[in-house]
Amino acid sequence: MKVLVAVKRVIDYNVKVRVKADNTDVDLTNVKMAMNPFCEIAVEEAVRLKEKGVATEIVVVSIGPKVAQEQIRTALALGADRGILIETEEKLESLTVAKALKAVVDKEEPQLVILGKQSIDNDNNQTGQMLGALTGLPQGTFASEVAVDGEKVNVTREIDGGLRTVALSLPAIVTTDLRLNEPRYASLPNIMKAKRKPLEVVAPGDLGVEIKSTQTLVKVEAPAERSAGITVSSVDELVEKLKTEAKVL
Ligand code: AMP
Repeated sequence: MKVLVAVKRVIDYNVKVRVKADNTDVDLTNVKMAMNPFCEIAVEEAVRLKEKGVATEIVVVSIGPKVAQEQIRTALALGADRGILIETEEKLESLTVAKALKAVVDKEEPQLVILGKQSIDNDNNQTGQMLGALTGLPQGTFASEVAVDGEKVNVTREIDGGLRTVALSLPAIVTTDLRLNEPRYASLPNIMKAKRKPLEVVAPGDLGVEIKSTQTLVKVEAPAERSAGITVSSVDELVEKLKTEAKVL
């Protein structure tokens, strides 16, 4: 079974994001970039399926600038077999990404497509769902457990106050939630080996897709600064301040 995994290059989750002085965007100068954490979980799940003998090939795809090859190489070091970069410097929107992914799905014909549920830079949480709509394939979103069973995949989904399991006929699309697995680290030998794994770079036009923005980013603002708190010496003082200063009592 071939598994296709979509990985996105985003700002590393440990980085404190800075906004450009003119509020036009986030400042990416000298900022550490990494694979979106939910995509790491997607790669890990694919690798586990391969280790179980369920998956036979893992193909990783990313849409983005030339440097997004770094995240594809990371996925290859974690156990993916080959990578595809759809190279573009354009600003990306979920629908264009989903259309590009659909072109790859049409070409590669994977039995399972795994995406993150959300990218941590724009919090869109829609690419997997849009890919589901464009391809007409069944989708199991926010997966906390994935079990392939013959021609089906059972996806346990985290919903408010519980879990819900859906059976999807393959080929299918799955998006990963945080508790699906704990991704491994790439070992040094595997990082070296990944350098020799195939990574194909294609232009969007090669797949018959056009990457064109339909949105304009109007403004990016940092959250308002919170003023420093104070320490009170007694409960009485706290109640007094809540009455007279905060006026919430
Ligand atoms: P989003 O809908 O932007 O929150 O992203 C959800 C998931 O879609 C991500 O975790 C990725 O698996 C996939 N995705 C989004 N953007 C890209 C991209 N530029 N390249 C590859 N995969 C992407």
